[in-house]
Amino acid sequence: MLKPNKRYGELKDTYLFNTIYRKTKEYSDANPGKKVFRMGVGDVSLPLCGEVIKALHKAVDDQADAATFHGYMPEVGDAALRRAIERYYRDMGAEVKENEIFISSGACDDLGDILELFERDNTVMVLEPAYPEYVDTNILSGRKIVYLNSGEENGFLPRPDRKLTADIIYICSPNNPTGAAYDRKGLKEWVDFANEIGAVILFDAAYEIFIEEADVPHSIYELDGADRCAIEICSFSKTAGFTGTRLGYTVVPKNLSRDGMNLNEMWSRNRETRTNGISYILQKGALAIFTPEGQKQIHENIRVYKENASYFMEALDTANIWYTGGKNSPYIWMKCPDGMSGWEFFDYLLREIQVVGIPGDGFGECGKGYFRFSTFGDPEETKEAADRLCKLLKK
Ligand code: PLP
Repeated sequence: MLKPNKRYGELKDTYLFNTIYRKTKEYSDANPGKKVFRMGVGDVSLPLCGEVIKALHKAVDDQADAATFHGYMPEVGDAALRRAIERYYRDMGAEVKENEIFISSGACDDLGDILELFERDNTVMVLEPAYPEYVDTNILSGRKIVYLNSGEENGFLPRPDRKLTADIIYICSPNNPTGAAYDRKGLKEWVDFANEIGAVILFDAAYEIFIEEADVPHSIYELDGADRCAIEICSFSKTAGFTGTRLGYTVVPKNLSRDGMNLNEMWSRNRETRTNGISYILQKGALAIFTPEGQKQIHENIRVYKENASYFMEALDTANIWYTGGKNSPYIWMKCPDGMSGWEFFDYLLREIQVVGIPGDGFGECGKGYFRFSTFGDPEETKEAADRLCKLLKK
C-alpha cells in the first residue's frame, strides 16, 4: 500500500501568516475608513529595472526567429551569466570560478534541492531565529535538527558552541528575520569550526546587496577555508526585484569534498537529473543586472529600500528601543516594548496606528518578544508608518 510522507504532519502549520491575514482583515472590515500600513511582507515593491526589462523584451524577440531561437539551455546555467557572476565575485574579493556557479530558479528551490547531496541520517544545525524553510525542508526529509539559539546578548549572531555539533550548518547573513550580519571575524569562526568538525555550511546570501559596512562579508568565500566547507545560495529576488520573475544561483566549490566524493561534481550530476535548465529569456534578463547600467539601476532601487530602513531606525533610536538590522539588511528586528509578547504588540500596533508587522514567534522560540518590520514597501507609506510608530512608542 502507498505510504504518504507522514512528516508533513510534523510541519508547523501556517498559523502565523493566516492569523496576521485574519486579524488585519477583521480590523479593515470593522474600520473601513482606516488605511492599514502593511510593513511585514518580505516581498519587493519596486518594478524590475529598465535594463532588465529591455533585455527580457529582446530575449522574447530572439525566440520568435529561427536564427536566434534557443531551445534547452545548459542544466548548470548559461555560460555568459555564470561568467558575469564570476566577475561579480572577483570584484567583491572572492575567487569563485564559472564552473562552480549553478544558475537556479531561485534560492528557495535550491535550499530544498541541495539536501539531495546529503544522506538523511546527517544532523542539521539551525541558528534561530531562522528563515522557516531551513527547518521545514529537513523535517520533510527526516533529518535530525539541532537548534542554536541567539538573543540580544550576542546581537542575534550566535558563535559556534563546541558542545553542539552537526553535519550541516545553516547560516544566513545578513539574516532574515533579524537583519543582523556577521563581520569577517564572526563568520571566520564558523568557517574554522566547520572545517574542524567536517561540517558543510549552507550559507544563505540572499540579502548580500544590502550590506554597507566594510567589515561585513558579502560572500562566505571572502574568507580563507570557506571553499573547503561552504555552499553559498543566492538569489536575484531581493537584489534585483526578481521575486516574481524567479532566478538565483548556487555556488558549490571544486574544493568541497567529503568521504571521497566531490560535491561540485555531485551537484552538476544532480542538475542534469533534476532540471532541464532555466528559461533562456530569464537568464538574458538577469545578465543585464551585471552591465554597468544594470548595476547602477538595481542599486538605485536598493537605495530606496535602505532609506525606508532609515525611517524605522530613526523612529526606534528616538524612542530608545532595542533593535538590530536595517543597516545591512531590509529587515528591522525590534524588542517589543514593556514586556509585550509579539502578538500583544501586533494587536497594539494595528489598533493604535494601523501598522502591521510580524511577531518574532514565527521564526523560532527565541523570536518570542520581538517583532519584524520589512522595509520593502512604498516609501511614503513606510515613512508614515515609522512616524506613527515613533509617536506611539514615545507616549
Ligand atoms: N533565503 C532567505 C533568507 C529569504 O528570506 C528568501 C526569501 O524571502 C529566500 C531565501 C528565497 O528567495 P527566492 O525568492 O530566490 O526563492
